[in-house]
Amino acid sequence: MTTIHIDNVSRWFGNVVAVNDVSMRVGPGVTGLLGPNGAGKSTLINMMGGFLAPSTGAVTLDGATIWRNEGIYRHIGIVPEREGMYDFLTGREFVVANAELHGLGAEEARRALATVEMEHAQDRKIATYSKGMRQRVKMASALVHDPAVLLLDEPFNGMDPRQRMQLMDLLRRMGADGRTVLFSSHILEEVEQLAAHIEVIVAGRHAASGDFRKIRRLMTDRPHRYLVRSSDDRALAAALIADPSTAGIEVDLGEGALHIQAVDFARFTEFLPRVARDRSIRLYAVSPSDESLESVFSYLVAA
Ligand code: ADP
Ligand code: MG
Repeated sequence: MTTIHIDNVSRWFGNVVAVNDVSMRVGPGVTGLLGPNGAGKSTLINMMGGFLAPSTGAVTLDGATIWRNEGIYRHIGIVPEREGMYDFLTGREFVVANAELHGLGAEEARRALATVEMEHAQDRKIATYSKGMRQRVKMASALVHDPAVLLLDEPFNGMDPRQRMQLMDLLRRMGADGRTVLFSSHILEEVEQLAAHIEVIVAGRHAASGDFRKIRRLMTDRPHRYLVRSSDDRALAAALIADPSTAGIEVDLGEGALHIQAVDFARFTEFLPRVARDRSIRLYAVSPSDESLESVFSYLVAA
């Protein structure tokens, strides 16, 4: 059991379309699911984990429907973003309780706690754990039944750099073992460091897929439009248009704003603040002004 297929999947809540006709395949190794907040990452992960039914389309693991298929749940472990942690339990009690839900026991719990290197703290109350330790205990709970597929929703949120490194090592190891590991994030750098393969979703739609080089190229090597407001739009426009980062500028005197077409993203984001500082121009607003995927990509790069 290794490969999740998402075929033309949509999911809506009332009239909110959270996931819009997405198709992708997630196989062994580490995959990053990248997208800004509200993109539909959690909705997608919950459908892959069997927590949520698709409104239309199919989510399958090696051909078997995941939703309401108990036999399939045995092959999937899911680490949700938030979870009641029962602070009054010890880490071991919490993992054992989860093992029992799978009809397993203390031995499997012990193994899972060893995998996440939490034996040293397993008899302390969860209330005393750091964010990283809680995350590892949640992960042990997701691993008690030794699933082939591990899904993690924003696992790095709120972690310090050391905890982040530890979790990255662990996920890398699991991917190298041949498991299918998928984690979501809204931070490109995080995904780049860990994922051999990246799937991008933006506003419910599948926007791109590939390795980090391809994704970074997609996000940066194309024109971006910005709306900029400053204390001296004319002086700023004159300076920007003289620089190769900028292909065109419209000065909107009525609105009091510049509409800028940038062609070299990296250079533009470096040049704009520098020129403003050098000329004592105050920047009041800098925002992507088109609703295209590209402008959201630029947001991701800057995050
Ligand atoms: P992400 O995890 O990428 O931030 P989500 O999957 O949580 O995105 O949400 C995608 C969209 O669906 C958002 O607009 C969100 O408000 C909406 N949404 C998610 N879950 C629900 C729900 N249970 N009820 C209503 N709207 C929801
Ligand atoms: Mg989410």
